[in-house]
Amino acid sequence: MRRKLWNLYAGTTRVIRDDSLISVPTKNVVVGDIIVFKEGDVVGADARLFEVFNLEVDETLLTGESVPVPKSYVINYSLFDQFFSSTTITKGRGKGIVINTAMETEIGKMAKTLASTSVVTRTPLQKSMDKLAYVLFLVTAILAIIVFSLNKWRMSSEIALYVISLGIAIIPEGLIAVITLTMSNGVRQMAKNYAIVRKLNALEALGLVTNICSDKTGTLTQSKMIVTDAWLPNDGFYKISGRNGYIPEGTIYRCGEIMDRRSGCAGTTSEIVEEKQSEGEEVTPGNMTYAFTRLVQASALCNMSVIKKGRDGEWHAIGDPTESALQVFAHKAGFPKPVLTTEPFKFELVNEYAFDATLKRMSVICKEKSTGAYYVILKGAIESVLSRCTKIQLGEVEVNLDIEKFQPELYDRIDKLASKGLRVLSLAYRRVIKTDVEIYKLTREKADTDMIFLGLVGIYDPPRPESKAAIQRCFGAGIEVHMLTGDHLITAAAIAKEIGILPPFWSPELESEENYNSKLVMNAMQFDALSEEEIDNLKELPKVIARCSPDTKVKMIDALHRRNKYVVMTGDGVNDSPSLKKADVGIAMGLGGSDVAKQASDIVLSDDNFATIVNAISEGRRIFNNIQKFILHLMGGNVFKIIVLVIGLSFIDHDGIPIDPMSPLQTIFVNMITSTPPAMGLGFERASYKIMNYPPRSNSGIFTWEVIIDMIYYGVVAGALTLVNFIIVIYAVGNGDLGRKCNSSPTGPECAPNDSECDKVSLERACNQIYRARATVFATLNYITLIHAYNCRSLRDPIWKMKLYDNKLLFWSVLGGSLIVLPTFYISGLNSKVFRQLGIGYEWGLIIGAVIIFEIFVEIYKFIKRKYLKPLILLKDLNNNIP
Ligand code: ADP
Ligand code: MG
Repeated sequence: MRRKLWNLYAGTTRVIRDDSLISVPTKNVVVGDIIVFKEGDVVGADARLFEVFNLEVDETLLTGESVPVPKSYVINYSLFDQFFSSTTITKGRGKGIVINTAMETEIGKMAKTLASTSVVTRTPLQKSMDKLAYVLFLVTAILAIIVFSLNKWRMSSEIALYVISLGIAIIPEGLIAVITLTMSNGVRQMAKNYAIVRKLNALEALGLVTNICSDKTGTLTQSKMIVTDAWLPNDGFYKISGRNGYIPEGTIYRCGEIMDRRSGCAGTTSEIVEEKQSEGEEVTPGNMTYAFTRLVQASALCNMSVIKKGRDGEWHAIGDPTESALQVFAHKAGFPKPVLTTEPFKFELVNEYAFDATLKRMSVICKEKSTGAYYVILKGAIESVLSRCTKIQLGEVEVNLDIEKFQPELYDRIDKLASKGLRVLSLAYRRVIKTDVEIYKLTREKADTDMIFLGLVGIYDPPRPESKAAIQRCFGAGIEVHMLTGDHLITAAAIAKEIGILPPFWSPELESEENYNSKLVMNAMQFDALSEEEIDNLKELPKVIARCSPDTKVKMIDALHRRNKYVVMTGDGVNDSPSLKKADVGIAMGLGGSDVAKQASDIVLSDDNFATIVNAISEGRRIFNNIQKFILHLMGGNVFKIIVLVIGLSFIDHDGIPIDPMSPLQTIFVNMITSTPPAMGLGFERASYKIMNYPPRSNSGIFTWEVIIDMIYYGVVAGALTLVNFIIVIYAVGNGDLGRKCNSSPTGPECAPNDSECDKVSLERACNQIYRARATVFATLNYITLIHAYNCRSLRDPIWKMKLYDNKLLFWSVLGGSLIVLPTFYISGLNSKVFRQLGIGYEWGLIIGAVIIFEIFVEIYKFIKRKYLKPLILLKDLNNNIP
């Protein structure tokens, strides 16, 4: 599928269409759409609210009001509250029906009256191009002064023309166009490969990246979750069979405390997604224990997700993947939300405290209509939940929680689940007797207290199949991968092992608590407790940080920056903005990410996939290499022309005026027609298969010493060969007479009146000679420039390794350039009057000779470079690093 860049750039909005929640480009939202919002979203249209939970909206853009405005869905009975396009949801969630879009929205009306101005900052590349322009200008000025002073400041049109030729030769007219085309092609290419570049700087930074810090859920994993296990203090383990993809069909087995193959409850993670795998006791609503029923109900109610069968007959989940998995689990057990909200239970959702990535828990308050009782239901990471509990559900009774006694057992069970790579969530509940008003006023802190611990659920989120290979590519490219996740340490480590971030022999026992110096896996708490100095003294920064909060991400970036690393950081949540801004390349998730994160990012992934990041880095490297290649080609060509023109100054005719070895038009022709198209071709070079075998380049910019010396060497060799040809034509074959006024007179030599020495015939011969010599110079310059484009495809590899036709643009521009010069020699009038040259014959031998000798010089030089320079390829023994 080919997506248009601006479709993705303009942000997306979640809408419910045909019973499923989909993300559509905001510009495709239409009046009547139902839009769904959560914290961090930027509203894409004006909408009327009909469902809200703790909704607060930042309307600064419209009203100037700096405090977020709370929203409820009715202002009075007839008037619904609205939210407006371009405002940001700072808290809670809501649903609304679109009433206005695009220019009809409030902000659109304002936009109509405002002329938009944008501030553009220059990228590092642009800055170095600016510097280059100054340098070239200076060189031009100095050469102009030299030319004028050699001519004793006599102003004549010939001299002026000569200086103009020089200027044209020095200034690479095509450069900016080629850079722009290369970059925009890169951006397009990346958008096709699911990475949307929001800031051009990122394109350059990508090539420098040394470390990637990635989220786990959704980026390294598929975010297609399924509840596979549960554990309750009195009942022991349960296993849930079923297929991945939110299909509410499967069976629940009770296995007791033993989890092994004999009891049929071992089920490695890859078996789980298969249909039948367990022989434990089958659980039905009839034989379900009281505690398990509570656990299922809590899973269903503390849950905003909806499972529906779409018109296409497929099951769809609307909502957070973790919650969708829990809802599917509740369906399998027979108590999904739709059942619980109707007779005989009639639970009604009263309030929701949304999932917070820092607190790592969420809770809801439900009212049981039949009894009038309120329930607080809490779910989240084990530490967060346990610390809110004072009781524990044991069978049908609640007993006081003796943490000391209970913790070892609980943590053992968590480890058992987590070491299979499962996300472990804990659930808790309590009943509250309070009045309606009191319930409404309940704060999160107050609500989540005195909870009764219910049990654990294990959710499997399979790694993306591409992740492992992508991580191996990073190793080969000298890029380190870190996983920063909110999940439990053991879960994170199990997944990290599965995809190769950690070696397969890694186990928690290998890393003692005290020896944090070389820990590969750390809890965020431990990492956050370290001082900057302690972090800098770590031998290696951890590969996996578990229970990570958004602040930990910032700390990690700072630590990497102090080690002079270039960092990619991914993020999706609202709180990820600081880390996305701080990273050298901040990457937001296009599908699962909040708009705030997207706005803070440099690149948005339209498929949320880790492998896409690695592709983008490879693309960044390719673009950089290509810019380097065509700059080498274009600037080397300039050195070449300057040498010809400057040394050409020493050929003085009878009037004491230097004769141009090249006419101004010839110079323009070489700059614009001969060298620009092949340079573009170089900009479109495909990535070498080795591109991800190099270590990240150090930040020395385009102009490395190697490139500068190459430029000078190729320019000098080519310039010398061309001048030799010029000299051969005039002095070896010709008679060495430089005539007079051969530069300026299009009709041939002129004799001044009363010029006693005037010998028209010999003068004409002299000028012919010069015209032919010029044609020789022009052709030599052209053909060397064209073939040199093939040399520039690699700084070191010989030309015979380049395939002739794999870069079509390059091939056709070289071929075209070779043919298009021919008429300038042989069409009479065009040759002598416009290009100031004449048709040539035997000179072709000289031209071919020069091209061949040039290639010999190039290959000897490249051979020496290959032999004596440190090889660029990172010859890492991959087996040492990758399991
Ligand atoms: P990551 O995206 O890095 O995998 P998250 O921040 O999504 O991690 O989740 C971190 C932890 O928070 C999870 O391990 C889980 O315990 C808990 N959690 C995640 N989603 C929810 C949710 N919707 N409700 C309650 N707790 C959740
Ligand atoms: Mg997450």
